[in-house]
Amino acid sequence: LKGTSMEKLMDKLTKVVSESRLKWIRTRVVRMYSYWTKAMKEFQSRVNVTDKPVKKILIHVGVLAEEKSLHFAQTANTGGPLGELVQWCDLITSLYILGHDIQVTVEHNEMLSALNGNVDTIKRPCPPKNGHLAADIIFTDYYGLSYLRKKAIPLLQHYKCRLRIVDSFGTEAQFNYNGPLPSIGNPAPVGGNLFGKNELNLKQYMTMFPHSPDNTFLGFVVDSKSNVPKSVTKKQQALTYGKHYYMWKDLKSRRFLDIIHEHFEVHATTGGLSLQQVKTYLPPYVINHGVISAGTLQKLLQESKIFVGLGFPYEGPAPLEAIAQGCFFLNPKFKSAKSRINTQFFKGKPTFRALKSQHSYAEEFIGEPRVLTVDIDDAQAVKGAIEKIINSEPSPYLPFEFTHEGMLERVNALLHNQDFCYRDKPSWPPLTSRTVVTGREGQSCKDACLQKDLVCEPAYFESINNAVFLKKASFPCHTMTVTRGSLVAPAYLGQDNSCVLQAIPLLYSCTAYHQSVKRICPCRNYRKGQVALCKTCY
Ligand code: UDP
Repeated sequence: LKGTSMEKLMDKLTKVVSESRLKWIRTRVVRMYSYWTKAMKEFQSRVNVTDKPVKKILIHVGVLAEEKSLHFAQTANTGGPLGELVQWCDLITSLYILGHDIQVTVEHNEMLSALNGNVDTIKRPCPPKNGHLAADIIFTDYYGLSYLRKKAIPLLQHYKCRLRIVDSFGTEAQFNYNGPLPSIGNPAPVGGNLFGKNELNLKQYMTMFPHSPDNTFLGFVVDSKSNVPKSVTKKQQALTYGKHYYMWKDLKSRRFLDIIHEHFEVHATTGGLSLQQVKTYLPPYVINHGVISAGTLQKLLQESKIFVGLGFPYEGPAPLEAIAQGCFFLNPKFKSAKSRINTQFFKGKPTFRALKSQHSYAEEFIGEPRVLTVDIDDAQAVKGAIEKIINSEPSPYLPFEFTHEGMLERVNALLHNQDFCYRDKPSWPPLTSRTVVTGREGQSCKDACLQKDLVCEPAYFESINNAVFLKKASFPCHTMTVTRGSLVAPAYLGQDNSCVLQAIPLLYSCTAYHQSVKRICPCRNYRKGQVALCKTCY
């Protein structure tokens, strides 16, 4: 905590070109600062952070640099998307509290001048001279990255291995690789590729939830008044999850709300229009508060017994906040999984990941009794879930990885250990955490590892993708070939134990699978409640 203070951080978030775009983030920093310092003290008592080098970090919030077209800052208090701002805010604060030398920018030009150290070179940016790097690490997003690609290729080349791309939903190998698309393990023609082809290490993409082990789980912090309450007293009250009126427009039927209303008073925090206008989109019995401040929302969550998903938005922070306050989360199950193949929202996203419900993390990592994943158009299923909730005692819960201390621990470990510049450094996570597993036919490595209570670890692919290793580890290979056309290698092909090795490291993928292929998977152990880190990773 030496030398850090909220005032100094505020200063960094105010002396920025177009600083008004950081208003929502500043408010969150102020609300949470004392929790951060408390968590940092706890963390320091467990892990020595003082012997670690201070890094120069540029944090360029591309989504705010595109404010004129995206309006994230402008609509932050009226129902616009907040997940990204939550994540940026918590990243900025954790890097600062950990003692790093940070600079935040929200205009593309300011990012360029920060990297060049000279505003005059903006028109023809050139790489800085060797040894004078303006930043050890740059956190930005696809907007910042695509700006660098368009306007500053030499700079981009220079900083490529130092980039970290904040990418909520994640990026898969076939969207990152810039060569001919592999024929094996690629679910469907990819078509136009809005985001990808940047040929970064897939671990340079940082996600909001631990969606896919191919990317790095960066995460955020859940607003829980720092500590999760031990017990809570609930009213017969349900709160709907939807802060913009358009989230109600696409509901096929509101019958499930009528069922909930038979037992519970139903509240909403919906905005986007005046309260009077929003009313026309809601059932008449819903008590709407409009979009409210985070503190007021927490109170409402504390009093509510159920937090009710409407099917959209996908995978936001709010359900975790609700569960931390002891709510049961009614998580809408999708009849057919939603992905870029059938859902407009995911069309441009660089992943084939398919959602089986509105909130995959809540479904897979938390589950019953706190998370009830049901088809909200199935009245019987809804009645069954409500019955279960009525008969259960609430029990507030927050996974460690979403606490302030959990995020500090993760960011600290990632920052000091992940290195995408030098290939001959010792592997991280260490090989002592590795277990190699053969998947079933048609199974991805993500699933094959999970089945053994492990996670797929792409950093280990290199170590297993060679004949010497396979032989030594007694993987029986009848024949051995090297392929350029597959996302599933290393693997066994067909029935006769022919092995294929991967020729293109950019195509290593934890998520790919193919029905006639048994994948050979690099798995690692993980800490319960901190899935991003191996058991000995600090
Ligand atoms: N939120 C808020 N006031 C409200 C409703 C939501 O401050 O009336 C906050 C909520 O606490 C959460 C954030 O908005 O931290 C993002 O919520 P959501 O899960 O809806 O995710 P998004 O779709 O915005 O990414």
